[in-house]
Amino acid sequence: MRTAVCSGSFDPVTKGHIDIIKRSAGLVDKLIVAVFINPNKQPLFTIEERVALLAEATRDIPNVEVDSFSGLLNEYVRSRGARLIIRGLRAFSDFEYEFQRALLIKSIDPDIETAFFMTRGEYSYLSSSGVRELARFGGKVTHLVPPCVEQALAAKMNRLQKETEE
Ligand code: ADP
Repeated sequence: MRTAVCSGSFDPVTKGHIDIIKRSAGLVDKLIVAVFINPNKQPLFTIEERVALLAEATRDIPNVEVDSFSGLLNEYVRSRGARLIIRGLRAFSDFEYEFQRALLIKSIDPDIETAFFMTRGEYSYLSSSGVRELARFGGKVTHLVPPCVEQALAAKMNRLQKETEE
């Protein structure tokens, strides 16, 4: 069975991520979408929220499993019986970071491969950080994220607003 791991922060998952997930899931038997627990980042959504949103947003793709992991990606990939990492590529800015990451992983674990999917033109400008910023200032995100994420963003912004007022 060919298993691949699509890793990322997914804070929150966007339509750009979903496009990469759908396209790569179509080429493997099983795609594990793995949310990285990054101790150095203060996310907007908790790990549990990000996993739940991804599970909801990928519910109609039968061979996708959502999970989370901490530590080294190559070790997680091995622990799941996979050898293939899937990442998305947007503009040049992604390239340098992804190139470095892929080579670093290769330097410690030569058997693990990283494959890249080029973003669809309409999502080339789309990032989780951009979505967070739009939502924070009340901008419309309907065309950028799955409906469950749009709702979760509205609820989160409401809660944050209430907390600052208290
Ligand atoms: P990370 O913090 O690991 O970069 P992200 O959640 O930001 O996590 O991104 C996960 C993966 O999805 C990365 O490979 C990133 O390049 C890719 N990605 C993010 N947004 C898009 C998009 N709009 N189109 C294609 N790929 C994307």
